[in-house]
Amino acid sequence: MKLQTIELFDFRNYEQLHLDFHPGVNLIVGENAQGKTNLLEAVSFLSTGRSFRTARSQELIRFGAEFADLSCRLFSGGREQTLRAVLFASRRPRQLYIGGVKQRSAAELPGVLSTVLFCPDDLLVLKSGAAGRRKLVDTALCQLRPSYAQALAEYQKLYESKARILKDHFDIPSLLEPLPEFNFRMAQVGAVLISYRARYLRELEAQARMFHDTFSGGSEHLTVVYQTVSTVTDPFADKKQIFQQLLDHQQTHAHAELESGQCLSGPHKDDFDAALDGLSVKAYGSQGQTRTTAISLKLAERAIFQKDTGEEPVLLLDDVLSELDAKRQDFVLNQIRTGQVLITCCEPDRLTGLGKSILIRSGRATEV
Ligand code: ATP
Ligand code: MG
Repeated sequence: MKLQTIELFDFRNYEQLHLDFHPGVNLIVGENAQGKTNLLEAVSFLSTGRSFRTARSQELIRFGAEFADLSCRLFSGGREQTLRAVLFASRRPRQLYIGGVKQRSAAELPGVLSTVLFCPDDLLVLKSGAAGRRKLVDTALCQLRPSYAQALAEYQKLYESKARILKDHFDIPSLLEPLPEFNFRMAQVGAVLISYRARYLRELEAQARMFHDTFSGGSEHLTVVYQTVSTVTDPFADKKQIFQQLLDHQQTHAHAELESGQCLSGPHKDDFDAALDGLSVKAYGSQGQTRTTAISLKLAERAIFQKDTGEEPVLLLDDVLSELDAKRQDFVLNQIRTGQVLITCCEPDRLTGLGKSILIRSGRATEV
């Protein structure tokens, strides 16, 4: 998979941009606040149909402009393809196109341009809340399995409806009538999510362990343990069994949910724990160990994608080198020598001789 060109009109601080990419390493260099991350955000948006920085697409439109237009040409699935997204400042819904054909939803996008993004926040994903770790798994699975993306979208809608019922039932008791139906469907769709997540995390552990072994010179052993709803005894079991166990959990928590007005049962609280030599990274990991483990997980994500689809996703590395010491920088740089990489950086000296450098200054790009 190779990104060939990108064109931006009124996206973030880019009034107009046309860029040709190198098939290998593209170093995006520039001072702070010039538009480096904005460029990766544009690529990521074309890949996933959403921004990794904001849920409000209005923020992506250049101040004062009425719409933003992003498009790219790429080689993927053995042929040349194009992607385009148009975002409006008004309430008009965004438009997504594959090969000039308007898509009904972002669900059609994954697979055309696949990306693995790595930003400074990811270095801390193991120390922060469960939401970041769930997002890591969900984002990867949504790109790999369209049926997972559909199930996740359905689960989120069900969750939002149930959360509203639980919040408002004190004032409007009749809202509780459809609750059993929501619970039933949430357990069905929840079982699908759990089944996918368990398999993905098993593979993630196997791959990440290999990277971490190289990283630590074989001195630390990495394990990744999936944590889901407590009644689920085996997340690899038949989905019917998981479904039943999710219903059991709902029943024992039904009273507490009504009392607290919160949705307490289901895989929306899932997490995973990464451990080194049996010690949880979240609780005990040093800064270096935490970052190294996070990098191993990201590299594993790329490896799984490649193994599964035969395509190597474009790696988007936002400002990660500056947070790492020289040894870890070297490790990352060695790992990125294959496939296509867009890497942002304030000081270009570490990457001389690799691919192409693009200087960004106030939303304008020059090849250097
Ligand atoms: P750093 O090295 O600090 O990470 P960067 O080059 O990655 O910097 P970006 O995050 O890409 O910087 O942002 C560059 C600039 O884009 C910011 O100064 C911001 O004010 C501007 N910007 C963000 N959104 C918009 C928008 N909708 N319209 C115009 N400018 C915007
Ligand atoms: Mg930045």
